[in-house]
Amino acid sequence: MAKNFSKKRVAVVAVGGNSLITDARHQTVPDQIRAARKTCVHIAVMIQKGWDVVVTHGNGPQVGFILRRSELSRHELHDVPLDSCGADTQGAIGYDIQQSLYNEFRLRGIAKQAVTVVTQVLVDRNDPSFKKPSKPIGSFMDEQTARDHQKNDGWDVLEDAGRGWRRVVASPLPKEIIERDAIKSLISQGFTVIAVGGGGIPVVENDQHELVGVAAVIDKDYASALLANTIQADLFIISTTVEKVALNYNKAGQQWLDHLTLEQARQYVAEGHFAKGSMGPKIEAVIWYLEHGGRQALITNPENIEKALEGTTGTRITRD
Ligand code: ADP
Ligand code: MG
Repeated sequence: MAKNFSKKRVAVVAVGGNSLITDARHQTVPDQIRAARKTCVHIAVMIQKGWDVVVTHGNGPQVGFILRRSELSRHELHDVPLDSCGADTQGAIGYDIQQSLYNEFRLRGIAKQAVTVVTQVLVDRNDPSFKKPSKPIGSFMDEQTARDHQKNDGWDVLEDAGRGWRRVVASPLPKEIIERDAIKSLISQGFTVIAVGGGGIPVVENDQHELVGVAAVIDKDYASALLANTIQADLFIISTTVEKVALNYNKAGQQWLDHLTLEQARQYVAEGHFAKGSMGPKIEAVIWYLEHGGRQALITNPENIEKALEGTTGTRITRD
């Protein structure tokens, strides 16, 4: 297959949590739509400049809200399993982005449509993280409630840094994007695709080779890298809260980086410059993308995407 299956250049843009929830006082659904619109302006500009864009996004807080609702209504309604929370949030956040892009396209006279693909992502049922679940989800609980869930619902629970007890789930590596052919086909037909929301719905293959959802969370940066590779994207953009990546972030000798080679990225990871759970997975995802045929990646914030594409800001990461 040709490197570019559609004639245009294709970029995967992974939008971070702040593109939907700016802060704790702005987290209602209308707030989230307003926030999505702000990021979508920059995505629309990219499209005007000739990029075909595939958008991915996080869903951590939104899944938290569903779980909390589920918890509060337990006396009356069934629980929502975690894979279903993934599907619900892909749909709802996909809607926010579709509508924002529709409105932005209309303003700019762009004859395009955005479409969300509810995406399942295959994980290995023997992934080591299933033996040691460590990703906290949902509300804090007291120890007794945590123990009850452990006994009655089979939850894994952990005490979270003195703040209380929480349910923890596995965070397995993404192996394969199940709906990849549908996604590729939509891109080649000119649609702006929203996919692998929240890292995708984690599914495993059972003994009958059927897919079944699992209670796990896939890192959205890793899943976005896998998607970028799967569709042979020309560019992988991670849109987050910082304009650039730094060495010694928030410490003495902080140094903002304009460019990183794969080699340097590996070295700085080893030296511990990128915090686990925030910049760490982004850099690891970029390394994986470049090691598996990806050409270039860019890390910046939504408002600087245009400038970063022109090379005047952001952190660009290339193979050499
Ligand atoms: P997202 O929702 O986009 O995934 P995260 O909060 O997970 O955002 O990751 C982005 C955050 O990573 C930044 O806001 C910043 O505080 C943090 N960070 C950690 N290490 C670094 C670093 N070396 N350079 C820049 N930012 C860093
Ligand atoms: Mg993150």
